[in-house]
Amino acid sequence: MSQILRGGHVVTRTGKTGPYSGFDADIHVKDGHIKGILKPGTPVPNATTIDVSGLWLTPGYVQAHTHLVQALFRGMADDLALLDWLRTRIWPLESAHDDESAYWSARLGLTEMLLGGTTAILDMASVKHTDAIFRAASECGIHAHIGKAMMDRENEAGLSEATEASVASSCALRDDWHGRGRLRYAFAPRFVPSCTEELLSQTITEARKSGCLIHTHASENRDEVELVRELTGKDNVVYLNDIGLTGPDVVLAHCIHLTDVERQILCDTKTAIAHCPGSNFMLGSGIAPTPELLTGGAKIVIGSDGAPCNNRMDVFAEMRLAALMQKPRLGADAIHADQVLDMATVTGAEVLGTGGGDLVVGSTADVVAIDPNKIHSLGGGQPAGCLVYAATPANVRHVWVEGEHVVQDGRLHCWSLEETVSECRSALARVRQRVNL
Ligand SMILES: [Zn+2]
Repeated sequence: MSQILRGGHVVTRTGKTGPYSGFDADIHVKDGHIKGILKPGTPVPNATTIDVSGLWLTPGYVQAHTHLVQALFRGMADDLALLDWLRTRIWPLESAHDDESAYWSARLGLTEMLLGGTTAILDMASVKHTDAIFRAASECGIHAHIGKAMMDRENEAGLSEATEASVASSCALRDDWHGRGRLRYAFAPRFVPSCTEELLSQTITEARKSGCLIHTHASENRDEVELVRELTGKDNVVYLNDIGLTGPDVVLAHCIHLTDVERQILCDTKTAIAHCPGSNFMLGSGIAPTPELLTGGAKIVIGSDGAPCNNRMDVFAEMRLAALMQKPRLGADAIHADQVLDMATVTGAEVLGTGGGDLVVGSTADVVAIDPNKIHSLGGGQPAGCLVYAATPANVRHVWVEGEHVVQDGRLHCWSLEETVSECRSALARVRQRVNL
């Protein structure tokens, strides 16, 4: 399949590290890849023409920490700190899911993210119903690494299982889904307080045997860090590093409360850090030291985390907050829009291995067409500043994932919005009947 995106303004880095800038060009997409960046009007025989006049063409956005299974629970756990948020709301709510409600929750989150320009995700599901999350992702065409939440330490909500069962069911999901189309399996132990060392060790072995990413939460909250010290006698990231749970195939969500030694470990091991500023503000977790980590060479990507701790799954909001949150602490130039845009595009794509992240010949054709002429974004600044500080999902006009035109003129191709809304309402009512929240 051959398409030509005509009349757009292509936004890319100037060279590898220069500022983002734009130039007028047509993009030729063939067989899921960018085949050519062409002078406007260049004829391309046998290609379907898509008019993107007046629009900016940007790389697809990557959210490297999400919880689709929680999308249905938006607004049901406001104003709580992490451990209370988990124990009193999120774990009981996740426990009350059935396959259908998990599916509709995923569909809600995926709809929000695709309409908002997100083309790839790394998602942690719950202990059960992970098949339903994969099913929704498989229908909509997004690049998705998904893993069931592994938990083998008992908790108040009963949301845990035996070590062997957790590993065996994760491996079965991997065998079913890893490598199907744009889907990948990710091994996802929830966080150290939920997992025995035996579970973590077996997880590392299984993930590395099959080339899957390993994804967990780390050092999000001071009480969590203290709990890890009580359980292991070590600082969280030191512990993870000691057992082998760091490296380029590991994505740690949050990484806020770090010692100097832990920062160095993350930089030296090239462990990816999924920065979730909206969630960090909402749960009062703290401010991740991203400028310092970037200076040390750390790999930082962006995620919105779950809908009940944000309460949006909007990559533009995350980019804006990622930049703004550092400025009162370190000054207005602490982190620049270009650096934040990198986190959400090229670095995210590198960590998730999508082959996208930049608009150059040979890249996977993950492309978002942005209308810059909205009232809230119209102005004369550089593209990166506009995308990070002003743009919202309302600017997203078209989305292509691996060349598939999944959002056309602001409409999601695969699903009916009306059906999603009505089924989500019914599914949530059924969940609420099972849990007193
Ligand atoms: Zn999370």
